[in-house]
Amino acid sequence: MIIAIDGPAGSGKGTITKIIADRLGIVNIDTGAMYRCIALAFLRSNLSIEDKEGIIALTKKIKIKFGENGKVFLDDEEVSGLIRTKEISTVVSPISSIVEVREQMVKSQRKLAEGCSIIMEGRDITTVVFPNADYKFYLDATLEERARRRFKQNQEAGIEMSYEEVLESIRKRDYNDMHKEVGSLTRTEDQIYIDSTNLTIEEVAQEILKHIKER
Ligand code: C5P
Repeated sequence: MIIAIDGPAGSGKGTITKIIADRLGIVNIDTGAMYRCIALAFLRSNLSIEDKEGIIALTKKIKIKFGENGKVFLDDEEVSGLIRTKEISTVVSPISSIVEVREQMVKSQRKLAEGCSIIMEGRDITTVVFPNADYKFYLDATLEERARRRFKQNQEAGIEMSYEEVLESIRKRDYNDMHKEVGSLTRTEDQIYIDSTNLTIEEVAQEILKHIKER
């Protein structure tokens, strides 16, 4: 079984997929974390953001792995916290716009789903990675609500950013993510659309589980 979930930053995909994966006992993959690992490797290199060839070569060189409880490893170093900084969030969208970087990631993502049931979340999972997934969801919320959620998450994680800064950064990332040459965040007719603006996490999880049980 493959469950694919797409949606913009702060729409709750990460939290929701963890819950669904736990309840159904299936593997959970956060594809944003994979692009964030490339962004971390990039920030640690001497490459410039214009150096596409360099970034493509870097992507081919690094190893990204997932461990227990959603832990993320870059070349065997646990980077789960390190990939959530303001600096990473700024460079991740332009890096993930590079077509060859995406091709590499899509290949890895398809491999991760071989021989197991999986729930995978990102921006192009319902459209590019698994267009034939058993279930396809688009999780959304208003820009302001998503900024509020991310602001709260940042505060809990000790990331210092004002609400206005968070709002602006999400607005920029939304634009970038929706205007990529390949793999842009898109709404399609065959996705089940869920607006979580006025829903609790549990209500969203129930809504998704309802669709899965119905079939
Ligand atoms: O989901 P998250 O916000 O952590 O993703 C970080 C960034 O990675 C996104 O803003 C997007 O630019 C990129 N991404 C992508 N395709 C995916 C998942 C994430 O381009 N499937």
